[in-house]
Amino acid sequence: MTQAYYHEEKAKRIFTCRYCGHRMRLGAETCGECYQPARIYNHKWFLILVPLLASMLAAIAFSYYLTSLIA
Ligand SMILES: [Zn+2]
Repeated sequence: MTQAYYHEEKAKRIFTCRYCGHRMRLGAETCGECYQPARIYNHKWFLILVPLLASMLAAIAFSYYLTSLIA
């Protein structure tokens, strides 16, 4: 039971605080331990935007690849 809880916690906390090393919750803009601002890649909008941009770039690259096959 405690093992399952540990795994869930670990999965959600990817980034560590650059000031105190605390494992921060995903999407948290401030550290839960020392209240310093999080790095930009832990912000919610960044976590949403990056996969979105990556998939858009992949779609663009793929369409270029398809047009190069036709021409
Ligand atoms: Zn911290």
